[in-house]
Amino acid sequence: MAEPTPIRIFDTTLRDGEQSPGATLNYQEKLEIARNLVALGVDVIEAGFPITSDGDFKAVRAIAAETEGAVVAGLARCVARDIDRVGEALKGTPGHRIHVFCATSKVHREKKLHKPIDEIIRLSVDSIKRARTYVDDVEFSPEDGSRTELNVLVDITAAAVEAGATTINIPDTVGYAVPAEYGEIFRHVREAIPELDRRDIYLSAHCHNDLGLAVANSLAAVEQGCRQIECTINGIGERAGNAALEEVVLALRTRRDYYTRFATQIHAARIYPLSRMVSNFTGLQVQRNKAIVGENAFAHEAGIHQDGVLKERSTYEIIDPAEVGVPSSKLVLGKHSGRHALRDRIVTLGYHVDEITLGRVYEAFKTLSDKKKSVYDEDIEALVESQIDASSSTNLWRLVSLQVTSGTNAIPTATVVLADTTGTQVTDASTGDGPVDAIYSAVQRITGVAVELLDYQLRAVTHGKDAQGEVSVEVRHKDLRVRGRGISTDVIEASAHAYVNAINRIRQVATRDRAAGGEGEEPRA
Ligand SMILES: [Zn+2]
Repeated sequence: MAEPTPIRIFDTTLRDGEQSPGATLNYQEKLEIARNLVALGVDVIEAGFPITSDGDFKAVRAIAAETEGAVVAGLARCVARDIDRVGEALKGTPGHRIHVFCATSKVHREKKLHKPIDEIIRLSVDSIKRARTYVDDVEFSPEDGSRTELNVLVDITAAAVEAGATTINIPDTVGYAVPAEYGEIFRHVREAIPELDRRDIYLSAHCHNDLGLAVANSLAAVEQGCRQIECTINGIGERAGNAALEEVVLALRTRRDYYTRFATQIHAARIYPLSRMVSNFTGLQVQRNKAIVGENAFAHEAGIHQDGVLKERSTYEIIDPAEVGVPSSKLVLGKHSGRHALRDRIVTLGYHVDEITLGRVYEAFKTLSDKKKSVYDEDIEALVESQIDASSSTNLWRLVSLQVTSGTNAIPTATVVLADTTGTQVTDASTGDGPVDAIYSAVQRITGVAVELLDYQLRAVTHGKDAQGEVSVEVRHKDLRVRGRGISTDVIEASAHAYVNAINRIRQVATRDRAAGGEGEEPRA
């Protein structure tokens, strides 16, 4: 039998995924996710959109510099300064990719770009050629490709290949396509342009999940000659999100009897730890019934199912949880666990910490294990993440202490002490409708950052009454929506940490050039 065709997995968690409302990642978090994507075995990492912010530029540059074994891509509109910025980020690190895009559908041409197709083709060709002066690997995406007339799509694809594009991505930008139709687009383009196969040009799928069809559409494309799938961990992304990496990979893998012709090189056992990391860093919780990585994905509730699985797993379970890295038993650390055991656990969970950070995590671990008998993986993740966050250079404020009085007959009052980067401490006090409200208004008085609280969620990190509480908040500052997280055995303190964390993130995002924004923005000539 012939060798299966390798399907490239192009992960865009750090670019499209980060465009999820409120899901900002700091520099350290991006690097940590990128390292885990390499270990997962993805072929391409789209690390950012350098023109949009300094943070994205630095992240793309750092990830490209340290990544071996995966191609790192940076996104650019068909605008010279966008392309130059990616070129600059990738300078001195050969083998990486510039990904340029330009909208091609009728509605985008007429209502957004106000340009005829000839001009769009010319702009795209010039941009691809410009990108090729920096790198040999150029991907071109006709944005809203699935809603572009087929003849237009063929014309622009042929021109892009002629100009030097090595991958052509046909995105279903608005999640409108259905599987057979999307597959047919690939079949048609491939048949109309024999040059694609002759030059070994990769066709790529990029699907959004507005109708819940992103994974199905991606798989339909693969059956028609598409050899790269763009996806994200946990399916995060603009609006309803992108195709979920774990679902695409497990569909091809679990149904290899059907998809005999295709294979990915993903190490599936690394999926679950990375899913947890992305969820924790972005603050976007995975829905319980999410395929592959949801809390209930391998839970059997009905007695008849439980009975069946105990007799023979395959009766009701098509994937062994261990295959995707779901731990079979919870390893517990405690007061008497040493630094070594802690380090082992941190490495198993996928984190890379240096000695200094390890020292700080160990101190925090000892404090926690004094308060709490059993320390679970989730607790350790929370400790490591708060240290990674604390070491981020973008943090302006740190919670030093707080005191709250409240009760059935008292006006809730909070006194808060914050320190800035220079270590200068500022104290203020405020009353509020409740203890959390009092803390939040004291924090606003100190930082001078006015925000509106959009969402407040509290959950226990693990089980048991000594579990740590995790507070996740979403706040709005002008037109920015940002999430913050805080963890503590004291939920009031966790609430304060989450709020301070959100305010620090506002500062980080506020420096971005929002005008350059998302995929749907109009190119500025
Ligand atoms: Zn997208």
